Formats: sequence, C-alpha cells, structure tokens
Amino acid sequence: MKNLNALEAWFITGSQDLYGPETLKQVAVNSQEIVKGLNGSASHPVKIVYKPVVTTPDEITRVCMDANSSPSCIGLITWMHTFSPAKMWIAGLGSLGKPFLHLHTQFNRDIPWADIDMDFMNLNQSAHGDREFGFIGSRMRKERKVVVGHWQDPEVASSIELWLRVAAAWHESKQIRIARFGDNMREVAVTEGDKVEAQMKFGWAVNGYGIGELVAVIDQVTDKQIDLLCEELESEYMMQDVLRKRGDRHTSLRESARIELGLRTFLEEGGFGGFTDTFEDLHGMVQLPGLPVQRLMHDGYGFGAEGDWKMAAMLRTMKIMAAGLPGGNSFMEDYTYHFDPSGMRVLGAHMLEICSSIADGKPVCEIHELGIGGKADPVRLCFNVSEGPAINVSVLDMGNRFRILVNEVEAVLPPQDLPKLPTARVLWDPKPDLKTAAAAWIFAGGAHHTCYSQNLTAEHIMDFANMAGVEFLLIDKDTNLRDFKNEIRWNEVYYHMAKGL
Ligand code: MN
Repeated sequence: MKNLNALEAWFITGSQDLYGPETLKQVAVNSQEIVKGLNGSASHPVKIVYKPVVTTPDEITRVCMDANSSPSCIGLITWMHTFSPAKMWIAGLGSLGKPFLHLHTQFNRDIPWADIDMDFMNLNQSAHGDREFGFIGSRMRKERKVVVGHWQDPEVASSIELWLRVAAAWHESKQIRIARFGDNMREVAVTEGDKVEAQMKFGWAVNGYGIGELVAVIDQVTDKQIDLLCEELESEYMMQDVLRKRGDRHTSLRESARIELGLRTFLEEGGFGGFTDTFEDLHGMVQLPGLPVQRLMHDGYGFGAEGDWKMAAMLRTMKIMAAGLPGGNSFMEDYTYHFDPSGMRVLGAHMLEICSSIADGKPVCEIHELGIGGKADPVRLCFNVSEGPAINVSVLDMGNRFRILVNEVEAVLPPQDLPKLPTARVLWDPKPDLKTAAAAWIFAGGAHHTCYSQNLTAEHIMDFANMAGVEFLLIDKDTNLRDFKNEIRWNEVYYHMAKGL
C-alpha cells in the first residue's frame, strides 16, 4: 500500500506586526509546540510541518504559492494565534489550490483567572482572530474544514488525523490511473459516466485496454512463477483439497495464479492504482479472475466489476485514506434481502470479487461453478466478515454533477451457517432501517455496487466530497425520507446555480 510518510501538511500561524517582536516571538514558540504536540499525539500518516508565522500579505501569498507548487504538501492547517487582519489573506487564499483546515484553537486551555492581564489578552486572541479569518474564508466561498477545541484535546487530534488522511487521499487521487479491461457490462446504466468530467473533478485517469493486451502478458508467465505463487497460496489460506498440489483441480488454481501474475505485471508496469473487468469480455482468458482480484484489492488496488471504473477509483482512494488502519475496504454489492420483520438485513456479496482485507479469520480458497460468462470454473476466497459499524459508498454520475452517497450500516453475524454459498459475504443492518435506507438509496440513484469500509466513516467521505466540490448525501440514523427527498430537490437547484457562483 502507498506510503504516505513522505507527505506533509503545513502549519501556518497568522498574526500581524502590531504587537511587537516579543509577542511575535512567543507566537512562534507556541506554534512550534502545538505542531510538536500534534505530531506526537495521534497516529498521523502525514507529517505536520511548522512554517514561520505570517504577518504580511506578501508572506501569506508566498506560502500559499509555495504550497501549490510543493509536490509533498497536501494542504495547510491555519490558525490565528492573535488577530491577523483578513484582507491580508485575500490574495493568498485566492491562489491556494490545496485544501486547508482551519484549526480554531488556543495555546492555553484554561483562563488563568488569578493572573490574566492585558498582555495575556493581547497574545491569546484566537477567539476573535480566528473569527476574522473565518469571515474571509466564507466571504470568498472557500471550502475548508473547521476544527474547534484545545490542541491537546484527543478529539481535536483525531479530527485533524481524519482530515490529514482525506487530504492525503485527495492529493494522491489526482495521480490515480485506472485500467479498464474491456468496456462496460452491456446495457448497464449506473456504471457508465463521464470520464473526462471525472478526471477534471477527481483526477482519476481512466483508460481502456483490449483484453488481448492483458492476455499477452498473462501468456508470458512461467511455470516456475506459478509454482511459487501456488505454494504461497496454499500456506496463506485454508484450501479445498481438490485445489492442492496433488488435487484433481489443481490446474484451476494454477490458471488463477497465472492470471494473477499477469494482471499484477500489467498493473505494475503501467503504474495503475486500479482496474475493471467484465465477464462479457474475457476473450483468451480461461477463468473470470476471482482470487486474483481479491488478492490485488488486498494489496491496495481499486477494483470495479462489470466495467465499474467509478468504484475502482473510489476504492483505491479509500484504501489510500485508510492506510495503516485496522480493518479493510472492499468492492461490494447489495445482493439479496432478509425481510424478516424482527430484523431486516442486507446480504452483501459479489459473484467472486470481495476483498480479503475485510475477512474475519482465514479465508477458504474454493472452486465452484459460475453460471455466467461461459468460462471455466473460477477459484475464489470465501469468508465471513466480522460485526461492527461500516459504511457503503456509491459514486454516481447524475449528468450535471457527481454525487457521492453514503449509508451507515452495522455488520452483523449471520444467524446460521451458509454452507452452500460459494462467495465471501457480509450481512448488515442499514441505518436507520432497511426500508428507509433502501428507499432513500433508490431516490438518490445509488448504485448496486459500492465500496464497503470498516475503517472509514461518513465524515471521511464527506470531507473528500467537499474537497472535490461534488455533492454528498448521507443516509444514517437520523435520515427520514421527507427531508431526504427535499435535500435532493434543493441540491438540484444548488448544483445548477453553483456553476455560476
Ligand atoms: Mn456486479
């Protein structure tokens, strides 16, 4: 998975010359202490870098321009220790092309009741200095995140960490390349979309490759490479005996290994972060890739089945956001329902391609017939998924805009074994309840395909949508259909008009 340690966010403290050099020196010392504290307080994937206090329009503009041109800077964290007249920020913020977080904090946590004097008041003015800065952000219609609280408050640290993850993913998003093997599943609507607009909005470069080009790479794979990978597979997973070295169907495992090795080479050589395939376009391939896709997703690649490039790119983006966190992110599909009034559930799965990063325990490597596609039986990993909160994320092209839709769900254990189900699966309870959630999802045009995440929250996805400037809709415990439909109606008007704002 992508290492985010080389990335940095710049911590910019605003002030002015009015207070004299002694006060400004103290402002600088305090800011450095805050940066040190923030870097030490949470499992930041990205380093926060202190930058000298800015007190003039020229300094502000320069640091914003430097941030724009720095390949490692993912954005700014801004804080006004004192008052910093905000007209000084107009040119800088106007040119800033990277996201920023406005940290509304204060160096001291408590008011020193017995000692407070006017010197203290002059130094510790965030309560109004940050409001002046906030005004110019709003006046300029600048998108940003605002985090309020003392910098040593763990909630503040975790909000900053969340934003750092999203800003890092946004930074990387603009370099994501997706390979589409074949085109879209024929006649399917929701997986289509405007790839030019997607690249303009998200940075995702999505391009097609003939399946023959991939098959040519797969054909280069040697028996020796396949031997080694099969040994690795046998040690990594539980495995049906028929697939093992002397089993009747071992050749199917070898064929899967061949496909994986070829796919991996193709993706590595092309610098791709994700890919799609479709069972309708596999000419020259023996199996529909199941196990190979599951393993490549586990290694950080995005994937969308049936040509679903939006899910492939979103999954890759989410995997970058979640780098290093426990739990996983997978391509997913709402497959079938349990309409029992005592507990309505959705069973999520796909024909084959669920990422083993969300597996509860060791997956079992199995081979079963696949009714569609007209190819040899594909090898796949089967597993259950552990209980707990999760989100489903969908990206839609609504014609005049992209919409990112999230449903909060609670994964639950199946009440019984599912001995005949030949796929990985997860059962969930959608919030606020299945009837409301499914109706809201349908009104929003949400796809049957999603990205399922165990370690990201709706807030991560909302912040990402805000950075990209696209619509965000959330279905959660507070959703009711009347308000949700109104939100969609109002958003129609907003996004129509926002193009001219
Ligand atoms: Mn599908």
